[in-house]
Amino acid sequence: MISERAKRIKPSPTLAMDAKAKAMKAQGVDVVNFGVGEPDFDTPENIKEAAIKAIREGKTKYTPVGGIDPLKDAIIEKFRRDNSLDYSREEIIVSCGAKHSLYNIAQAILSPGDEVVIPAPYWVSYPDQTLLNDAVPVFVKTHESDSFMLKPNALEAHITKKTKALILNSPSNPTGLTYDEKTLKDIAEIALRHGIYVVSDEIYEKLLYDGQRHTSIASLSDEMKEKTLVVNGLSKSYAMTGWRVGFTAGPKDIIKAMTNIQSQSTSNPSSITQWASVEALNGPQDFIEKMLREFDVRRKFLISGLNSIAGVKCLTPTGAFYAFPNVSGLYKGRIKSSDDLALHLLEEAKVALVPGSAFGDDNHIRLSYATSLDEIKKGIGRIKEAVARF
Ligand SMILES: *Cc1c(COP(=O)(O)O)cnc(C)c1O
Repeated sequence: MISERAKRIKPSPTLAMDAKAKAMKAQGVDVVNFGVGEPDFDTPENIKEAAIKAIREGKTKYTPVGGIDPLKDAIIEKFRRDNSLDYSREEIIVSCGAKHSLYNIAQAILSPGDEVVIPAPYWVSYPDQTLLNDAVPVFVKTHESDSFMLKPNALEAHITKKTKALILNSPSNPTGLTYDEKTLKDIAEIALRHGIYVVSDEIYEKLLYDGQRHTSIASLSDEMKEKTLVVNGLSKSYAMTGWRVGFTAGPKDIIKAMTNIQSQSTSNPSSITQWASVEALNGPQDFIEKMLREFDVRRKFLISGLNSIAGVKCLTPTGAFYAFPNVSGLYKGRIKSSDDLALHLLEEAKVALVPGSAFGDDNHIRLSYATSLDEIKKGIGRIKEAVARF
C-alpha cells in the first residue's frame, strides 16, 4: 500500500500536458506546443565549456552537501549585485533545481497541521509540496483587476494561529505578472506583525519587460530579510532546465536544517552542474539580454493575437514567458471549463496549452511563448479557426 501522503498528490499537470503534446508530435501529428515551461534556447556555450572542463579536470566527486564555495560565493555576489542583499555562505544552500529548494524549505519549516498561504492562481507544485509535508494549503484568490497581486487585506483575512508561511512568486508563473514595491511593503508589514515566513520564488527575476524592475521582498528591511527564504535558480535565466540547479538564501538555522535534510536525501547537486553554474553567474551575461529581446517580440505578437479572438481577454504580462488569457467568454455548449477547452483545442486544433484549473483558476488558460514566432503565428491561427466553429 502506498502512503497516505503519496495519495494526497497528483503528478505535475504542466509536465503531463507537455508529455502529451510531445507524444502526439512523436506520432507525426503537427502539434503547436504552448504547453512548455522552459526556454527553447540552448544553454550558452561558455557554460557548456565550463562543464566539459570540470569533467576533464576530474571534478566528478561528492562536493559539500550545500554546494561548493566558489558557487556559494558567486550566488552571494549575485544577491549583492542584483538585489542589494548581503548573505554569508551559511545563509546559502544550493539544491537540485529551485523545485528542490522549495521542497527542502517545506521539509525544514512545516509541521503537521501548519498552514501555508498560497495566492491563486499559483505555480502547480506549491500546494502539492505543502500536502506532502502534512501541512495545509490555504488559497487566497487574486483578481485580474489587481493584476493578480495578493491584496494585503485578503492576506490578513487568511492568517490564523497556524499560519507558518506565505508563498510569493513574482514574476509569476502562470500569470506573467509582477508585484509592485508598494504591495510588497504592505505584505512585508503583515508578515512581520504575524511572525510568518515569506517564501519568495524569484526564478523569473531576469525575465522582465517594459522597463520593469525586480524587487526582492527580502531587501525591504533587515527584519524582513530574517523572515524571507529567497528561492532562485538558473533553469529559466540561463536556459539550464535539464542541469538541475537552484538555490535558497535565508536565515542560518533554516539553511542548516535544509542542508541536513539534503544530506540525508539527495546529497550535493551534480558537481559538474555546480562548476557550470559558477561560470553562468560570473561569466558574460549578454545571453539573457538576447533571449529577452526575442521573448519580447513573441510576447507582443501573442498578446495582440489572443486579444483579437472574440471571447478572449488577455492582460499584458510584464515578466516570465507566459500569457494567461481569460477565456470564460468561450464557455458555452459542450465547453464548460478550462479543461474542456484545452482538450478541445488539442484534439480539434492540434494546439497544446495548460488549462487554468491546474493553477487554481478555471477562467483562464496558460500559453507559453517559449516557442518560435512561426509556431505562435500558426497556433493563434488555429485557435481562431477552432473558436469560430464553436
Ligand atoms: C520552473 C519553475 C521553478 C523550478 O525550476 P527548477 O527547474 O526546478 O529550477 C520554480 N518555480 C517556478 C514558478 C517555476 O516556473
